[in-house]
Amino acid sequence: MEIIVANTAGFCFGVNRAVDSVYKNIQQQPLYTYGPIIHNPQVVEELREKNVIPVHSVDEVNEGTIIIRSHGVAKDVYGAIEEKGLNYIDSTCPYVKRIHKIVDEHSKKGYQVVIVGDRNHPEVQGISGWSNGEAIIIEKPEELEGLNIPKTKPICLVSQTTYREDRFESVLKALKEHHYEVEGFNTICKATSDRQQEAVKISKMVDKMIVIGGRESSNTRKLYEICKNYCKETYHIETIKDLELNKFNSNDKIGITAGASTPARIIKEVITAMNDLENHTNENFEELLNQSFVTLRSGQVVKGTVIN
Ligand code: SF4
Repeated sequence: MEIIVANTAGFCFGVNRAVDSVYKNIQQQPLYTYGPIIHNPQVVEELREKNVIPVHSVDEVNEGTIIIRSHGVAKDVYGAIEEKGLNYIDSTCPYVKRIHKIVDEHSKKGYQVVIVGDRNHPEVQGISGWSNGEAIIIEKPEELEGLNIPKTKPICLVSQTTYREDRFESVLKALKEHHYEVEGFNTICKATSDRQQEAVKISKMVDKMIVIGGRESSNTRKLYEICKNYCKETYHIETIKDLELNKFNSNDKIGITAGASTPARIIKEVITAMNDLENHTNENFEELLNQSFVTLRSGQVVKGTVIN
C-alpha cells in the first residue's frame, strides 16, 4: 500500500487564525461565535463544551463577546453589534475582507456586483451584504441567460474564495461574450487553488482517494467533486468512523487530502488507520506524521516529493 498525503491538507491560514482567536479569548465569558467558527462539527462540539456558543443573529446575544469567523459577515452585522454595545473580535480572513472592500467600493461607484459562488454559503451572504445595491449571485454560467442587467451598467465580478477556478473563468468569459462591460476580480484564495491543484495531481495518480472534511464544508465538497473527476473511487468522510476500511487492500495506492476546516488530529487518525491496515510499524511514524507531506509505503516510510 502506498499513501500520498497532500501537503495542503487541513487548516488554512484564515481558519487557523479564527480558531486561534477563540482559544486565546476563551476566558471572556460569555463567548459567542457568529455561526459555527468552522464547518467542522467535531471542533464546534468541543468548543460548545467550553461554553463557546455559535449564534446566527446578533438578536440572540445580550452581553459578552462575539467572534466573527473567517467567512466574514455583512456590513449591517457590525452596525447591529455596535448598537447593542457588545464586544466583538473580528476574525474575518483578510482575503475575505479584501472582497468586502472591492464590493463596497465598486457598488458605490455604480457597478452591479455579481458574485460567483454558493448562494447559501455564509461567506457569499456576507460579501453580498457589502454591496450598496442588490448583488446578483450565480453558481454557474448557464444562470447568466436569465440575467437582466442593462448593458450600460458595468459589472464588478468577484468570486467566493473557495470556488472553482474553472467556474469563475467560464462565468467571466460568458459575461464578456454577452457584451457586458465587466471588471473581474478572481478572488479565489491561493490556499484554495493550491489545494485544488494538488488534489487534481494526487487523484490522477492513485487508485482511491480520501477527502476528509465536514459535510457542510463547501471547500471540502468541491475537493470531493474535483477528485471524483479523476479518481472514481473517491470517498468524502468527516472522520475515520465514516471510512469503510474493507474497501481498501494492500495493493492500493491511496491519496488523502482534506478541507480547510479539517483539524490535523482528524487527518492523522485516518493516516494511522490506513497504516494499521498494513500492520505497518515504524518508530518514526509519529514524527513523520507531523511533517506536512509524507509518502508511506509498505515496510518503509519515504518523505514524499512525488508532487512537482
Ligand atoms: Fe482565508 Fe483562503 Fe482560508 Fe478562506 S480558504 S479562510 S480565504 S485562507
